[in-house]
Amino acid sequence: MASHTSDQITLISAAVAGALITQQVWVADASLFTTATVALFAATNVAWTINALRRNRTKTTVSCPQLGCRAQAVFSGEVKADEQVRLITAAVDHSRHGGAQ
Ligand SMILES: [Zn+2]
Repeated sequence: MASHTSDQITLISAAVAGALITQQVWVADASLFTTATVALFAATNVAWTINALRRNRTKTTVSCPQLGCRAQAVFSGEVKADEQVRLITAAVDHSRHGGAQ
């Protein structure tokens, strides 16, 4: 996932920010439970960041070819093949989305 430099920077930033916040809570004499809760939230944020980066790297956008129509289908590589076909078909057939602006 983190093969792109921007992804690596984003991931490292999330991890460092989480560690710093957790450390600041700990040195502020917060209870162990409070510090552990903050650490858990920080770890969750890193996991969320990894997932968001992965989804973004596999994102596909298909636009309607009708001039002036801004209808699009946007999906990640996690979407099953038959669902991708349904989304693409709906996006490229202007009559199927009723001239959405
Ligand atoms: Zn359209």
